[in-house]
Amino acid sequence: MRPIQMVDLQAQFAKIKTEVMQQIEGVLDSAAFINGAAVQQFAQEMQTYLGVKHVIPCANGTDALQIAMMALGLEPGDEVITPSFTYIATTEVVALLRLKPVFVEVDKDTFCMNPESFRKAITPKTKAVVPVHLYGHAAAMEQILAIAKEHNLCVIEDNAQAIGGTYIFSDGTQAKTGTLGDIGCTSFFPSKNLGGYGDGGAMFTNDDALAQKLKMIANHGQQKRYYHELVGCNSRLDTLQAAILRIKLRDLDNYIAARTAAADYYDAAFANHPKITTPFRAAYSKHVFHQYTLTLHDVNRDALNAYLAEKAVPSMIYYPVPGHKQQMFANQALGELDLPITDWLTERVISLPMHTELLPEQLEYITKTVLDFVNNN
Ligand SMILES: *Cc1c(COP(=O)(O)O)cnc(C)c1O
Repeated sequence: MRPIQMVDLQAQFAKIKTEVMQQIEGVLDSAAFINGAAVQQFAQEMQTYLGVKHVIPCANGTDALQIAMMALGLEPGDEVITPSFTYIATTEVVALLRLKPVFVEVDKDTFCMNPESFRKAITPKTKAVVPVHLYGHAAAMEQILAIAKEHNLCVIEDNAQAIGGTYIFSDGTQAKTGTLGDIGCTSFFPSKNLGGYGDGGAMFTNDDALAQKLKMIANHGQQKRYYHELVGCNSRLDTLQAAILRIKLRDLDNYIAARTAAADYYDAAFANHPKITTPFRAAYSKHVFHQYTLTLHDVNRDALNAYLAEKAVPSMIYYPVPGHKQQMFANQALGELDLPITDWLTERVISLPMHTELLPEQLEYITKTVLDFVNNN
């Protein structure tokens, strides 16, 4: 059996190698390494795929979040509400811009922001909310958007783990995650659902004025070369990455289908197990399974982790420390912040190998190995 990896990018590359090598050669021949034709072509193809008016590429997903917050004109001291149960990038940029991160709870089942927890955290200083579509499952956007509108708050979606996901509103209308709020942010980090062969990111918006501002901020605050209207930064998707991402975007829906098939296999193998909760799929979210994350009950997770490693099955804890307990926020006066569901999940989640190339015999081996341990300990 082929060795099992958390994410198998080698097997995926093998299938598109000829085309990728041709595209890379084309970029090298053109020597247009920065802002070459592929960057705009990719942005346009992404716009069409997402059904959004503007896609602004940038250097990585963390920059996308930072530039989004800069473009919305947030001022030092403004409060930004985010879940604590997320990757650090979501909240790190809040602190970097001298804004105040306000951590709220997630739902036990979806792992995403709890709308009522969000509502309760709103103060006169709150300016924005950053729902995260964690592991590929959409946050409850219909409620979050309604609360944000009621309180006049900006909505930045952290779509780094859910590119290609779909949100289904209660009236049946559908839209891609990342296109629902004021600005959507994503990452093309290699292991993401749409990953390049290096760093990359993008911002999405349907607002023309915001798009203009995002573009300017990502480009030293200039519209006209050497005339800098705003303080910005230097954040670009390079041409090589754009050329590679164009190829992979064409396969994104197939990649999502392969991930979903693996998730279906896992779900069936662990169905109704008293010690294992499989990922929930809300009716409003078309899950894209960036991660396949179990919640364990009365299982020694460290021992399971060690057992799996011994049997050559990789597993990961996303994430071992929630945001509100990270040392980097020790000076944020978070006070006696109590997020019991976040803490509860942090102790119980474990993610299994999830990628586009999982083979039936690998899935069988992974699930059997997990069950061997859980049933006997
Ligand atoms: C990966 C990720 C980011 C950051 O993306 P980078 O491209 O690594 O900067 C932000 N938020 C979430 C939820 C992520 O998973």
